[in-house]
Amino acid sequence: MPQTDLTWNTALLYPAPDSPELEADLGSFEKLAADFRDKFFEKTATLDNTALLAAIREYEALQNLMSKPFCYAHLLFASDSGNEVYRAISQRCSELGNKLSQQLLFFDLELMELSDDRFESFRAFPEAANYLHFLEGIRKFRPHTLKENEERLLTRKDLTGVRAFTKLFDELSASFSYQMELDGELKTFTGEELLSLLHHTSPDVRFRAMTVFLERHGEHGIVYNAVFNNMALDHGQEMELRQYQTPIQPTNIGNEIPDEAVEHLMCVTEANYGLAQEYFRIKAGIFKMEKLRNCDVYAPVAEAERKYDFAEAKAVVVDSYREYSPEFGNIVEAFFTERRVDVLPRTGKSGGAFAMGISPELPPFLLLNFTGTLRDLATIAHEAGHGLHFVISQKQSLLNYHAPLPLAETASVFGEMLLTRRLLDNEQDPVVRKSLLCAKIEDIIATTFRQTVLTRFELRLHNERTAGLLSNDRISEIWLEENGKLFGDSVEMIPAYSWGWSYISHFIHSRFYCYSYTFAELLVLALFQKYREEGDSFKPGYHALLESGGALSPAETARLAGIDITDSGFWQKGYDVLAGLIEELKQIV
Ligand SMILES: [Zn+2]
Repeated sequence: MPQTDLTWNTALLYPAPDSPELEADLGSFEKLAADFRDKFFEKTATLDNTALLAAIREYEALQNLMSKPFCYAHLLFASDSGNEVYRAISQRCSELGNKLSQQLLFFDLELMELSDDRFESFRAFPEAANYLHFLEGIRKFRPHTLKENEERLLTRKDLTGVRAFTKLFDELSASFSYQMELDGELKTFTGEELLSLLHHTSPDVRFRAMTVFLERHGEHGIVYNAVFNNMALDHGQEMELRQYQTPIQPTNIGNEIPDEAVEHLMCVTEANYGLAQEYFRIKAGIFKMEKLRNCDVYAPVAEAERKYDFAEAKAVVVDSYREYSPEFGNIVEAFFTERRVDVLPRTGKSGGAFAMGISPELPPFLLLNFTGTLRDLATIAHEAGHGLHFVISQKQSLLNYHAPLPLAETASVFGEMLLTRRLLDNEQDPVVRKSLLCAKIEDIIATTFRQTVLTRFELRLHNERTAGLLSNDRISEIWLEENGKLFGDSVEMIPAYSWGWSYISHFIHSRFYCYSYTFAELLVLALFQKYREEGDSFKPGYHALLESGGALSPAETARLAGIDITDSGFWQKGYDVLAGLIEELKQIV
């Protein structure tokens, strides 16, 4: 295959970075935004239903126009950040985008400030149906929003308050380099590199890597103590000001998931900790260890990993989607035949992987950094799933195009499950099967059980902070207690693990985000189980779920596939899939 076939064809969007088409689009936005502002600024509340609907549609059309060149610029920059032309376009777009959003911000604010009566009247207007979820999304924080000058004061004081502590946390953690002996030599590592040694084959290396990493954080315990205490105190005070009942409530409102559903999710997860413990005992058996230490949990089970070339990897992924449905197979294959994927790593290209859905009228693109590992194969299936979701939800208009956050990972993780199933079903070699199963089981443990441990810890931290300052000893105690519930007597926690809470940036950057991983993974496992049980009759519901994009709340979207997210029985279905995988593993070992 010629090299060019492995890069994406951005000419599907614009002929070239210097094309008149791109210039014409970029040159038109400021006037369009200014016209929109002239028409509606401080008038939104005075519009009748027909005029309000027209205004929202005009706003949506404007966003639609802007998404094309901005996404194009992002794709160019991601493909080669060293290219001066790409850098210039990208910079121009981000400055222009900032300017435009400042111009248009008033519209969101005025929609939020519409009186409840006004909103109810619009809700009853039949043609408004398409925009109700969008409006509810804007208005959901209305009861917790303060007066404008109070909000401005808070934002201003955050700069030297909570944001200063966040920055301190980031700067301190980023300043660390670590020294550790490896292969008879004293070497210097970044934190990332050190943590990747948890996948090393030597138990001693794994133990030292984790210990060196955590003890380093412990040396700065005074700073971490101040950061964690102040973040929790700040949030507590804001909860009081904004009249939230529990520390997790703002996150749940943002996710549109009822508090009870989150609590159910975590209780069912905790009730299944025994599954993780069973797996840890099996893994200890594979290593002929009496008991795993927590630094051994992600150790590799096979000496050598199987490698895939790209053509083979692509074929397996396309086939696993096609096996589910010919339509899915065709959609995924089109990414490759239409060259909407940038495949290989190279200097200047973005790391990691992403899928970009631009707008309902334009085809999505994928970025990969394929090196031939099993993990890379799963990444193709993952990003292709996002891409598929973007294609299937193209029936929606732009404001409803993107799936609600808790459901954004549905098609991607479902696609990974399709791939795992196909690989397992077609693999005879027990060594490869064992690796496949362990990789999937560990993935599920990390995204469900561990995230629930983190969320429980975080809840206790916030709740206890309301009664006064927490010492590091107390924080560690809560941390080890919650981890201890997961590990039981199947895993021994190493001494340095008492600092395990100190480096987790989600606690500082995105409070209570962790349970979203549990939610997404379990939702998909349960969907997958439903598919295995129901076969073809499952498919129309799942299709409807994907097709609805962001038109509905997560609970309503899940209901399209016959799922009630407030029902604990439903979450248990997800753990039944995990139990099945552990059972399969037991057959081999
Ligand atoms: Zn994803």
